[in-house]
Amino acid sequence: MHMESEEKFNELIKTLKDLGYVDADIVKVNKAWEFAKLSHFGQKRLSGEDYSMHGLETAKIIASWKLDLTSIIVGMLHDTVDDGAANLDDILREFGKEISGLVDGVSTVSKIRLRGSDDEIFIENLRKMFLSMAKDLRVVLIKLADRLHNMRTLSVLPVDKQIKIAKETQEIYAPLSERLGMGEVKAELNELSFPILYPKEYEKVTAESGVYYKKAEERIKKIKTTLLRRFSDEGIKVAIDVRKKTPYSLWKKLERPDIKWNFDKIYDIVAARVFVETVRDCYAVLGIIHRYFRPLLGSHVSDFIAQPKPNGYQSIHTKVYGPNGKIVEFQIRTHEMHESAEYGVAAHWAYSELKSKGDVNSDQLEKMGGSVGSKLSWVKQLASWQSEIKDSNEFLEAVKFDALSERIFVFSPKGDVFDLPVGSTPIDFAYAVHTSLGDFISGAKINGRIFPLSQVLKNGDVVEILKSKNSKNPNSDWLEFVKTRIAKSEIKKHLNQQSKF
Ligand code: MN
Repeated sequence: MHMESEEKFNELIKTLKDLGYVDADIVKVNKAWEFAKLSHFGQKRLSGEDYSMHGLETAKIIASWKLDLTSIIVGMLHDTVDDGAANLDDILREFGKEISGLVDGVSTVSKIRLRGSDDEIFIENLRKMFLSMAKDLRVVLIKLADRLHNMRTLSVLPVDKQIKIAKETQEIYAPLSERLGMGEVKAELNELSFPILYPKEYEKVTAESGVYYKKAEERIKKIKTTLLRRFSDEGIKVAIDVRKKTPYSLWKKLERPDIKWNFDKIYDIVAARVFVETVRDCYAVLGIIHRYFRPLLGSHVSDFIAQPKPNGYQSIHTKVYGPNGKIVEFQIRTHEMHESAEYGVAAHWAYSELKSKGDVNSDQLEKMGGSVGSKLSWVKQLASWQSEIKDSNEFLEAVKFDALSERIFVFSPKGDVFDLPVGSTPIDFAYAVHTSLGDFISGAKINGRIFPLSQVLKNGDVVEILKSKNSKNPNSDWLEFVKTRIAKSEIKKHLNQQSKF
């Protein structure tokens, strides 16, 4: 047992060396490992493993997301206080303020029982979670890694506990990782929860889909050989990955009213992912595919490179007729777009690390500023802003990643969370809830008390918009204090319409 855990630790060290960490960093990780083993001494998980393995595996997940060294160490130490024999002062003394602060943050988030019996407690807990997120997003990323490892090892728990944890995962952590643009994590959390929460449906999907997976895979294998030769003739470096749709997302699609369990309507049950080096190669590859395989009639090419999805997703999708006239879907993207789609906000830290080592030139900076920034949920409207904002400096300003510290989280009375820029007012909140709500504003309550509409909101405020019965036009004075682009443009739109009459 002991040997095994040292072997696994050495795997982490190897990963860190591959990532470019130097000896001084490795020394720190070693120290954390010794500390974790000591504080979990004699403790076993239900699986029979040493308890310290959980911290180690959490650290490995964090390393695979390429978060910073501090986060990796915190991952290793995250349960040493709550479940082990250490206390926060030990961690402060041995590892300093940043690490002890983060361990404290993670254990605070862990104590938040998100789904209690009471809706009010749930809202209050969510609020705490978002507040800690706003302070240091790494807390939540480390918590996500912790949850991911717990989900991977869930089968040792009694079934009722499994269901409880899987439910919380699907309700909170999967959407949260989506919000953070971490597609890979979201998918894995959903896949792991699926058979626990919907065992019958899971069985049905896996039983019925097998033959369709197989046929689709064979089609793509044939195409792949042809295309790889063509790409190399044209001198384009590509890697083609055959990607099976996961059971959970397949089930979701099968349930759609336009699909109704007709597998023949699911063209992407297996898709071919083509990875290239540059954006130019993406379009070249699209051209080559269409030259050899006829694209479907009508508009079946989606160019999410020119027009990224609101969460920042970039790729070109096309559907073509493959062998025997069967439809095959291709997804074409650069390695960078892929990384960004899988790891989302975590890429932000990978990037700051690079920057601090001076490895990034201004070109890359601009590129990453765009792709990383647009991952973040608070810039969801980016795609639509892009066309509105003519000044590219203004646009870059809007996507700057330090936006994190300049955001507040406020809540609707029902507990929905809205992230707004610092300085936002109830008017900004109203337009964030729904653009049409702006036409009915008569007043605002903040934490249950009436305030002027120009009142600046604080982190954690609960905001309620008081509605008038009839719609009325926005007040031009509002333009003097609103902060968000959406509020400004909606108000202006109304004022312009008015002046036409
Ligand atoms: Mn844990």
